[in-house]
Amino acid sequence: MSEVLVLIDHVDGAVRKPTNELLTIARRLGEPSAVFIGPADQAAGAVETVKKYGAEKVYVVDDAEIKGYLVAPKAEVLAQLVEKTSPAAVLIVSGGEGKEIGARLAVKTSSGLITDAVDVTAEGVTTQSVFAGNYSVTSKVTKGTPIIAIKPNSASPEETAGAGTVEEFAATISDAAKTAQIVAAQPRQSTGRPDLTEAAIVVSGGRGTGGDFAPVEKLADALGAAVGASRAAVDSGWMPHTFQVGQTGKTVSPQLYVANGISGAIQHRAGMQTSKTIVAVNKDEEAPIFELVDFGVVGDLHAVLPALADAVEARKN
Ligand SMILES: Cc1cc2nc3c(=O)[nH]c(=O)nc-3n(C[C@H](O)[C@H](O)[C@H](O)COP(=O)(O)OP(=O)(O)OC[C@H]3O[C@@H](n4cnc5c(N)ncnc54)[C@H](O)[C@@H]3O)c2cc1C
Repeated sequence: MSEVLVLIDHVDGAVRKPTNELLTIARRLGEPSAVFIGPADQAAGAVETVKKYGAEKVYVVDDAEIKGYLVAPKAEVLAQLVEKTSPAAVLIVSGGEGKEIGARLAVKTSSGLITDAVDVTAEGVTTQSVFAGNYSVTSKVTKGTPIIAIKPNSASPEETAGAGTVEEFAATISDAAKTAQIVAAQPRQSTGRPDLTEAAIVVSGGRGTGGDFAPVEKLADALGAAVGASRAAVDSGWMPHTFQVGQTGKTVSPQLYVANGISGAIQHRAGMQTSKTIVAVNKDEEAPIFELVDFGVVGDLHAVLPALADAVEARKN
C-alpha cells in the first residue's frame, strides 16, 4: 500500500486537531506517514499523538537550519519526501500557510493541487464548497502526486493505533528557499477558548445581542466552544474582526454552529453553512436564518442563552 504524507500542524510539538482529521482521511487513501518539521527535541510528543491516529511512519525533519524562514523551505522538505516515497497523496491543513506550502510543492513536483477540500474519497475525489457555499464541486488531481489541502473539521478524528516508526530525514535546503526571513513573531494573546476555524462548536452573536456578548460567551464556555460574530457586531465594535464569520471573515465548518441574534444574510451564511448542525436563536420567526437551521428557537437571546448555558452546566455536573 502506498504511503500518504500528512504534514503535521503543530505548535511547539503540540499537534493541532486538524492533523488528526487529516490522518483519519489519509487512511482511506493508503498508509499514513506523518511529517514533523520542527525542533527534534519536540518530536517525541508529536509522534505519540500521530501514532494514536494511525501514523505508521513519522518522518522527523529537524528545523534548526530553516526555522527562521517563511514557508519555502517546508515545501522543499516535502518535495524531497515526495521524491523519496512516491506517495499516493500529500495532505496539508488548508490554512494560509498550508495553502502556500501546497502551491509551492505542486510547482516543484509538477503536480495538481486542490485547496479548501471538505472531503476526500478513497479514490482521491475531493469535495469543495464554493460560491459562498452555494455549489459543491467534486474534483480530482490528474497529474503527478495529488496535493490536497483540507479544511479543519472536514472529518471527525478517529483513533487507531499506528506503528509510528520514526525515521529522521535530513533535507537539503537551497539558498533560494531562504530569501524571506522571519524578523519577529509574537503569539496572539490567547482567549482561553478554541480557535474559531478549528473549534468543534461555535457560538456566534449578531446585532441582536445589542452589544452585550456576555450570554453568547457564557454559552460558549459551557459548551467549550469558540465565539464568533456577524459583521454587524464587528462593525459596531463589539467584537474584534478576527471573530467575524462570513464571506469577508472566517469560514467555519464545526459540528455545531449556534447563531444568536443573527438574521442569516447570504454573506454570513457563506462562512458557516457547511456546519454539520445549525441552531439559531432569534426573536423574529421570519428571520432567514431559520431556513437553514436544524433546530430553531424563537425567543430573546438574553433569556434563552443563560437558561441554555445553565442547563448545559447542570448536565455536565
Ligand atoms: C460585500 C459584503 C460582505 C459581507 N461580509 C459579511 C461577513 O463576512 N459576515 C457577516 O456576518 N456579514 C457580512 N456582510 C453583512 C451582511 O450582509 C449583514 O448585514 C450582516 O450579516 C447582518 O448581521 P446581523 O445578522 O448580526 O444583523 P441583522 O441583519 O440586523 O440581524 C439581527 C437579527 O437579530 C435578531 N434579534 C434582535 N434582537 C434580538 C434578541 N434580543 N434576541 C434574539 N434575536 C434578536 C433580529 O430579529 C435579526 O434577525 C457583508 C455584506 C457585504 C455587502
